[in-house]
Amino acid sequence: MGERFTNITRGGALRNLIVLPALAAACAMGATTYALADSRTDLKYQSTPKGKQKCDGCTLFVPGKTASANGTCKVISGPISPNGWCTAFAQKHA
Ligand code: SF4
Repeated sequence: MGERFTNITRGGALRNLIVLPALAAACAMGATTYALADSRTDLKYQSTPKGKQKCDGCTLFVPGKTASANGTCKVISGPISPNGWCTAFAQKHA
């Protein structure tokens, strides 16, 4: 009985050794994408520009098929208007 418990514990520890580095890597890679689920609200996304700032001038914007088509964003899920804006705006430099 005691032996079996020890084996289960060792198995769990081994699994943790494998899973934890993978989780750590996922967290490191996800630095810009981790907040996808609720970021539309959190980042106060709007489908209109904010002054001269708009999504098609943002480094985080992934353009759609045409210049006026909706694209996507690296920090907000779902379709994103090229004329939209949010508080994570990061100016593209030429
Ligand atoms: Fe638009 Fe904000 Fe995404 Fe930039 S981070 S593309 S401003 S929604």
